[in-house]
Amino acid sequence: MNQTNIVPGVYEIDSLLPKGMRSNIRSVIQLMFEMRIDMKLAIKGIIFDMDNTLLRSRIDFESMKIETYQFLASRGILPKDFSLQDHTSSTIIDIASKNGMMTDELLREMWEIPKKFEMLGMQNVVLESGVVELLHDLKGKYRMVIVTNNSIAAAETALREHEILHFFDTVVGRELMRSLKPSPDGFLYILDRFRNISAEEWISVGDAWIDGKASASAGIKFISYRGDKLKMENMSVYPSAEIADIREIKNYL
Ligand SMILES: [Mg+2]
Repeated sequence: MNQTNIVPGVYEIDSLLPKGMRSNIRSVIQLMFEMRIDMKLAIKGIIFDMDNTLLRSRIDFESMKIETYQFLASRGILPKDFSLQDHTSSTIIDIASKNGMMTDELLREMWEIPKKFEMLGMQNVVLESGVVELLHDLKGKYRMVIVTNNSIAAAETALREHEILHFFDTVVGRELMRSLKPSPDGFLYILDRFRNISAEEWISVGDAWIDGKASASAGIKFISYRGDKLKMENMSVYPSAEIADIREIKNYL
């Protein structure tokens, strides 16, 4: 047996076994381990991000982030010298929501800001190219779900308007998550809802580092669709694959 590839822990088990059985049992454990490595689980479900993955929205995420921050800083919820560099609106909102200073009234006022930018950005939305063709090809063969930081109502309206809502088993929006992406909450909700599909049998696709981070934290493989490679690397997100056309997902199923 190749000693360098031995399964970690096998020699600890050794000491518990009668001497005569050790090598046989060692071989069986090693074999089971190798089979598990070779076994590639078939993909059964796909988790899509919505904005700029399925729909090319014009949501001004940068201004949304700045205005949300400015609101929170002006109310003394976040410090004046807070660095926005590695944050998104969702991570800023998450920090603010957890510091115990947010009243219901402040929360309501704060949410008006992302809502305003989402509404503006959802006007004149178009489908990313190849989306309809892809969804037609995959329909009935895979579970297909959406996890978006957008609200469920806004997401479903946009998807319905573009006649693709019916392709999806469910749309998980911010109302169903305790924390938004990059938190894995939305992905964990999916794992819990579809208990017959394990994390290894899902694959996710999205354009932003927060999609990759959330996916990895839930143990789900991530494909970057037109993502910013450098930004992802800076945020320690390492996609399994990078695609420039959404139809290329089929190569990874
Ligand atoms: Mg997106």
